[in-house]
Amino acid sequence: MDGQALYMYQNTPNDQRGTQVPNNTGNNGNRRAPKDNGSSWLMRSVLIAVVVLLGWYLFQIFFTQSNTSANSGSTVVEIPYSQFYQEVQNNNVATAVFQGQDVTGNFKQPVTVIDANGMKKGPAIAYHFTALPNSDPALTNLLIQHGVKFEAKPANDNSVLVGVLINLLPLLLLVGAFVFIARRATQSQQNIFSFGKSRAKLVLEDRPSTTFADVAGVDEAKNDLVEIVEFLKTPQKFQRLGGKIPRGVLLVGPPGTGKTLLARAVAGEAAVPFFSMSGSEFVEVLVGVGASRVRDLFDQAKKASPSIIFIDEVDAVGRQRGSSINSNDEREQTLNQLLVEMDGFDARQAVVVIAATNRPDGLDKALLRPGRFDRRVTVDRPDWNGRLAILKIHVRNVPLARDVNLISIARSTPGMVGADLANLVNEAALLAARRNLDQVTQNCFDDALDKVLLGAERPLILSEEDLNVVAYHEGGHALTGLLQENVDPVTKVTIIPRGQALGVTQYTPLDDRYNYSREFLESQLVTALGGRAAEEVAIGRVTTGAENDLQRVTSIARQMVTRWGMSQRLGNISYSEREDPFAGTALATGSREYSDRTASVIDEEVSSIVKRAHTRALSLLAEQRATLDRIAKELRLHETLDARRLREIMIETGAIAFAPASYRASSMA
Ligand code: ADP
Ligand code: ZN
Ligand code: MG
Repeated sequence: MDGQALYMYQNTPNDQRGTQVPNNTGNNGNRRAPKDNGSSWLMRSVLIAVVVLLGWYLFQIFFTQSNTSANSGSTVVEIPYSQFYQEVQNNNVATAVFQGQDVTGNFKQPVTVIDANGMKKGPAIAYHFTALPNSDPALTNLLIQHGVKFEAKPANDNSVLVGVLINLLPLLLLVGAFVFIARRATQSQQNIFSFGKSRAKLVLEDRPSTTFADVAGVDEAKNDLVEIVEFLKTPQKFQRLGGKIPRGVLLVGPPGTGKTLLARAVAGEAAVPFFSMSGSEFVEVLVGVGASRVRDLFDQAKKASPSIIFIDEVDAVGRQRGSSINSNDEREQTLNQLLVEMDGFDARQAVVVIAATNRPDGLDKALLRPGRFDRRVTVDRPDWNGRLAILKIHVRNVPLARDVNLISIARSTPGMVGADLANLVNEAALLAARRNLDQVTQNCFDDALDKVLLGAERPLILSEEDLNVVAYHEGGHALTGLLQENVDPVTKVTIIPRGQALGVTQYTPLDDRYNYSREFLESQLVTALGGRAAEEVAIGRVTTGAENDLQRVTSIARQMVTRWGMSQRLGNISYSEREDPFAGTALATGSREYSDRTASVIDEEVSSIVKRAHTRALSLLAEQRATLDRIAKELRLHETLDARRLREIMIETGAIAFAPASYRASSMA
């Protein structure tokens, strides 16, 4: 009882359906994306370059050809220099264009030429020949004499360049292709010969563009992470004063609540590189590979400091060592390496390790020790305000019809997490597209929700009536807690479903207790029974939601009688069954050291303790019925109430006096 006490309104007991959120694909996609992008980007750019060069090459060939044949529209004859002289003297040349050494023009009458091989060319009206390298002064006079229209153009430097390039192009292409192939070959060789090289290498310069603006509904977690961002931005500022740097942060929350997204957002906000790897990737078939992966990952991150290392699904490596019979040596080695690396940071290295898990309970204690993952950030399911904010993020690029009411969507989706909502928006958009609409209508959202819920493993949506019961049940826990002395203060009450629980009331112990007074235990019983009592008081019938509460109540009451001597009839005798000190389980029942008569007295005593507590819970709630109604109503409205809001309600309804802090003492009726 030294942890957080949770009173849960439970789902029906035979409900085996898990809390796994469907369609949580963002994860792997996100993580692998940079790697795939890396290699395909290279490939694509090489391809594009080849295509462009080839196109240009063909264009140039075509262009230069058409350039030379431009004058005639048909063929051009190549004539010797000497023949040109002759044709001029025969008055058969109409025009001449001098461009560098190239001369083109038209004859007056078509000319047929016999070339050196005896082949006939022509007849053609256009001609081309190559002039002498040094200009021929006699030619100008001759042209003037014979009335040839002639002009000169500047030598086409461009064409020289083009010519050079055209000649070089095939060579360039060849070299390029060769380099490309060589690179690929060495890459795959690396893959063959170094399993241990961490795959993080391929996400070397992953600098996410995600920011906190892309994450909503998890404000507490964001606030906790702001400090990390500050530190990564200006590590010197923190180190100057000898401050201890946060080294490891453990993000804990159900799947799809945005843990990966948050980690990326921290990197994006701080503009530092992000090295990510999933726990299951570390645990490879080959022994020793996982450990060396960890080493590589940390080496790279240190080189790139300040930076972030993100280990997703850390429970895959971090499960308690030796907890199962066929313990996985490989996993242990990997875990040990991880511990070593986390200890091995130099004080100046600004590397923050963020890990994520949805199963924090089984984590090896060593991982959670100071200097390792000593900060825990809870990423909870969002309340309806949070869901609204998340919806707003995901509809940013979706054209919405005017009838879309995001508030009502947010209100009707309790228990859904960010990934569910992203999926919902996507489904609605797809539906709209299928229906050939220009905008996504409310109807699309409604149908998408139906579809998503149909596929969900657990009905996320309770009927109005059920919600009402849950609200009163949790309200009853909270109010009985608030009305009594000797109990831990209520920190939060919520009707957002969480795992098997449809609602949760949370208490934070004031300080670590090692000793429980009888009064404390009795108050605990009243609070634990407060949920069911509220159902009786306000609704008039009970539900199955109190199963967990009753187990808890029975266990406390039985221990009060048998272990702690808190029963008048039995006195200070311990009747508890001795526990096997090694297995932690009760020894065979044959070892019982009391008679059947004592056993039945124990049962009677337990039952009377529970009855007393139940009566007290009923009377407390009946007296403060107005407050109970009010809490239930506010719970329906806001889904979550924190300690401050609860106190305000208590004051408004007159359940407690105004005096701040002293309400706990003055609340007894
Ligand atoms: P987790 O790592 O907790 O399982 P992810 O971060 O992978 O969840 O979330 C998957 C996707 O769901 C994200 O890429 C994002 O599109 C959406 N998403 C989840 N949580 C949020 C949130 N709090 N705000 C906005 N989008 C979210
Ligand atoms: Zn309960
Ligand atoms: Mg994730």
